Formats: sequence, C-alpha cells, structure tokens
Amino acid sequence: MTPKVGFIGLGAIGRPMAKHVVKRFDGMVWNRTGERATAFVAEFGGKVASNPAEIICWAEVVITCLPTSREVREIVERDDNGWRQGQLLIDCTSGDPASGRATAEWLESRGVGFVDAPVSGGTSGAEAGKLTVMAGGEQKWFDRAKRVIEAFGSRVVHVGPPGAGHAVKAVNQVLLAVNIQAAGEGLAALAKLGVPATAALEVINGSSGRSNVTENLIPQRVVTRAYPRTFRLALLDKDVGIALELLQQTAVPSDATATAKRFTERTRKALGEEADHVEAIREIERAAGVEIR
Ligand code: NDP
Repeated sequence: MTPKVGFIGLGAIGRPMAKHVVKRFDGMVWNRTGERATAFVAEFGGKVASNPAEIICWAEVVITCLPTSREVREIVERDDNGWRQGQLLIDCTSGDPASGRATAEWLESRGVGFVDAPVSGGTSGAEAGKLTVMAGGEQKWFDRAKRVIEAFGSRVVHVGPPGAGHAVKAVNQVLLAVNIQAAGEGLAALAKLGVPATAALEVINGSSGRSNVTENLIPQRVVTRAYPRTFRLALLDKDVGIALELLQQTAVPSDATATAKRFTERTRKALGEEADHVEAIREIERAAGVEIR
C-alpha cells in the first residue's frame, strides 16, 4: 500500500524534493508561507495542510526540511500534534547532532521513529531526484525510511545512530566552505598576475587540487558572473558552526574549521541573509579589487 507521506518546508531544496514525494506517494504538504504550498499543489499535486498538526495527524511518514534544528524542534516536539505510535519522522534539515538525538528521544518516548537524513547535491540534484542522503537512526527506522528517501535520493547511506547524518553533513559543509575560500583567494591572486580563471581551472581540474568548487561552482557561477541563488550563505555559515561545535565537543583540533567559520561569518555579515554561498567569492573579489573571469 502507498504510504501517506507529509512534507513540511517547501524552500529552495524542500520544494523539488517534495515534488518527487507527491509523485510517488499519497502526499500532503505544509509551508509557513501558505501561498507557496498552494502553488506547489497546483503544479505537482498532493494536498495542502493548514498547519503542521494536520500533516502529523494524517501521515504515516513525515518529512521536515527547515533551515535549522531549532525550527524542527519548535514544530515537531508538541504534544498537541497528535503523534501516534508507529509513525516516522525523517528530518532532511541540515541540523545539529545534539538536537537530532534530543528529537529522536522525544519521539521515541511516544513510540515514533526518527531518522535524520540531510541531503547533498544542491537544488539541481533535488530537481533530478538524485540527491546523496546521509542517514542517522536505528536500523529498523532506517529500513523503513529508505523507501521514502529514494523518491529524491539516488545514494542513500546509513551512517550511524540518530544525529550521525547531521554530523556527516556538517563535515561535508566545512570542506565546501574551505574550498570556496581557498579557490576564491587563489584565483583572485592569479587574476592579478594576468592568468585567466579558465586556464587556471583547466590545470587545477586535471590536478590534485580539484573539487566540486573548481569543477562546477566557479566555472558555472563565478566565471560566467551568473551567481545564481540556490543555497544561502547563511545556511552554510550555520553548517560550519555545527561542525566547529562538533569538533570542540569531541576534543579534535579545529584550525581549518575555525578559519572557515570566520570566513562564512564575515561574508554572511557583509552580503546579507539572502546571498548565495558562492557569492562569498564576491567578497574576496571586492577586497582584492579584481574579478575572477
Ligand atoms: P530556504 O531558506 O530556501 O527555505 C527554508 C524553508 O523553511 C521555507 O519553506 C521556509 O518557509 C521554512 N521556514 C523558515 N523558518 C521557518 C519557521 N520558523 N517555521 C516554519 N517554517 C520555516 O532553505 P533551503 O530549502 O535551501 O534549506 C532547507 C535545509 O536544507 C537547510 O537546513 C539547508 O541547510 C539544507 N540544504 C539546502 C540545500 C540547497 O541547495 N538549498 C542543499 C542541501 C541542504 P517560508 O517559505 O515561509 O519562508
């Protein structure tokens, strides 16, 4: 039987993920700004809920995709939601491990399962239904969640207990931030020497310094000057902050992560809450007085 799946949070990444969910399952959606949910249903189908509790009452599996664990906890951990034994929450927010564990415990005491399942692959990966999903949770809940996650994820990896998905995601995000900063700085210096970014990237992408940033993000977004807005810098800063806290809690050296945090924090402050993460390179260009082309 097709499970009833509810989706909470139709933002930049949630919307294309939810599109695949309502295509494959009996779906219901909720979004804080209601017009976005109405427009979503008109385009892709499913039902609109008037509040999160309506979704929780109706669905067997509930998916959340919100900015941070704070919004997830505010919405999920309410007794008047009417959670029932045997339901499952899949949290696709890039959240923090401690909050993930706390939500898992809160739900477990009510007989509800929890899997933290943050995603990577960007809005284009979500549109294509080809995200990478890192899941934390008990094996029995992961087994049940996998079938639903596969609506939008082509690589679904069970990485550990509750909170482990959030932890892996945070570490991935530090690598993204470090690559944006280092590549932005290096290419700005090369531009000042008269080396075009396209030539420098041809070398780097055939060498050991290549990354998604040099192979895709800079050629497609910086060199073209397109700088599209797909993933907010504010969210990357939040992710790097989660990683820094994780390293401090586990007593692991955090030099690179602390540098990345200063970079995302400073550029977020300069560019504002709506700027895209790759726009952090604009700040490097501005400070250097050069464009990476
Ligand atoms: P957006 O900022 O685009 O969307 C956020 C969503 O959360 C919107 O639906 C927004 O509703 C809702 N929301 C915000 N605050 C509240 C609140 N207080 N109560 C209820 N709903 C709220 O974020 P993304 O979709 O980009 O990101 C969602 C999560 O996915 C984040 O954790 C992010 O780090 C992660 N992520 C994002 C990727 C991307 O490429 N964008 C890639 C991988 C992970 P409203 O429409 O009313 O504003």
